[in-house]
Amino acid sequence: MTGITSTRLSDGRELIYFDDAGTTASRAAELTTDHRGLPPRGEPGEVRFDALTNEWVAVAAHRQTRTHLPPADQCPICPTTGSNPSEIPAADYDVVVFENRFPSLGPALGPVPEDAAWGTKGPAYGRCEVVSFTPEHTGSFSGLSRTRSRTVIEAWAQRTAALNALPGIQQVFPFENRGADIGVTLHHPHGQIYAYPYVTPRAAVMGNAARKYHDARDGRETLTGSLLRAEREDGSRMVMEGQNFSAYVPFAARWPLEIHLVPHRHVPDLAALSGEEKDELADVYLDLLKRVDALYPTPTPYISAWHQAPLDPVLRPSGYLHLQLTSPRRAADKLKYLAGSEAAMGAFINDTTPESVAERLRSVTVPASPASPALAGLSEGASA
Ligand SMILES: [Zn+2]
Repeated sequence: MTGITSTRLSDGRELIYFDDAGTTASRAAELTTDHRGLPPRGEPGEVRFDALTNEWVAVAAHRQTRTHLPPADQCPICPTTGSNPSEIPAADYDVVVFENRFPSLGPALGPVPEDAAWGTKGPAYGRCEVVSFTPEHTGSFSGLSRTRSRTVIEAWAQRTAALNALPGIQQVFPFENRGADIGVTLHHPHGQIYAYPYVTPRAAVMGNAARKYHDARDGRETLTGSLLRAEREDGSRMVMEGQNFSAYVPFAARWPLEIHLVPHRHVPDLAALSGEEKDELADVYLDLLKRVDALYPTPTPYISAWHQAPLDPVLRPSGYLHLQLTSPRRAADKLKYLAGSEAAMGAFINDTTPESVAERLRSVTVPASPASPALAGLSEGASA
């Protein structure tokens, strides 16, 4: 069992420690108080309605002052030391989640205005959280132990359940941006969770396609489930198949590197996974990230995006948890940029074939993960 301890920072933000299963030290005893005396939190930014597209745009100009690539000795998500009073008061931790000090959404909660039209705006309600995967400043998710990977998954699941229950929240999105090429502003291995007060544009498109498919089959079949079955039967784009999860490069991949990781069981979100499923996911997700990193001599920038069912009661029954991992990297030294066709028209042109990418991902050699944090960094030899 993952140990969970919630506390508050000096400006009232929530911070939650998730301790690896089997950790015997009492987390509560290790807790220290945040002595920084931070100023009170600001008001939310704005959301404005784009009448041309029926989409909300968050205006978060206050975030321009946020920390950008600080040196390691001033890292805000390393454990606190005498010379670096960081965001994490404890002297050590396993995984920690806390409210972002410079949120795009929140901290106040509430609904977006109804009957939106040109000129409609409102407070940017919602919540933005930071998930630190490890107290170590360097490295990446793919180098975590299986135990630590499992703790992160437990944190994602617990936060999804908690954020789903907050007033006005319509969609909860755990994700990781990895690599400066993706716009990462902190090197310390970490991810984020956004809880939106509206269904995001991509989730709305996908959600409506899923709903139509589901409704046309009287709720007996899901779109994502049928795609998973079709990809497994075809086989040419499969990357891995497990007991509870499988991963493939989708038939119509948009990005030079794109992988979908899908649970075999129809669940709306990470909070609905069973313990056995989360155990397998800890291994499968590490394996996937290591395959991505094994493609090139240097770490591959990626966006790891958990698509979870929106809370909208019309969309939720057909919503199906899955991960979309994408990278703009199209060669060792080349990135795809979103230019005219993609950025202006949303019309993607992929320079790679999904089948060849899947073949490369299947054939790379993946090093084993250490079983426990104590073994982190030690190689246990290669396995397929
Ligand atoms: Zn750090």
